[in-house]
Amino acid sequence: MSNCVFCRIVAKEIPATLVHEDEHTLAFMDIGQVNPGHVLVAVKHHAENIYALEDAQAAAVFRAAAKVARAIRGAFEPQGLSVYQANGAAAGQTVLHLHVHLVPRYEGDGMALTWPVKNPPREKLVEYAGKIKAKLG
Ligand code: AMP
Ligand code: ZN
Repeated sequence: MSNCVFCRIVAKEIPATLVHEDEHTLAFMDIGQVNPGHVLVAVKHHAENIYALEDAQAAAVFRAAAKVARAIRGAFEPQGLSVYQANGAAAGQTVLHLHVHLVPRYEGDGMALTWPVKNPPREKLVEYAGKIKAKLG
């Protein structure tokens, strides 16, 4: 898509600082750098979000994410590493081209994701699982 910033990076129409490339993915430095070593792994062929991924793309994205994560660990020796991937504005997605964030993490680094657990009863888990399984086919 010509107006998509990550498609333009893949097409080399705008610059990015690349760290890895394979048939299906391109990994490059996030311009915002939540912490040093913050990398994005994006699909090469435009897919807006996780729902639009072909199986081969899905496999390739996580394979590349794991490979680059190991390299980030080797290079920066962070205390932790967060894998973050947003779908839709409500989830915080701002670039509508599938990408996975690899963020080196440190105690007290200020990156926060609130996790408002509801701890529903087991029957609710069974009910929710049933709804999902009905759509899996
Ligand atoms: P998300 O909120 O998950 O859609 O994240 C989009 C990310 O893309 C943000 O962390 C931005 O800093 C990053 N970003 C946007 N434009 C560029 C660019 N031209 N090069 C590298 N990273 C970018
Ligand atoms: Zn795109």
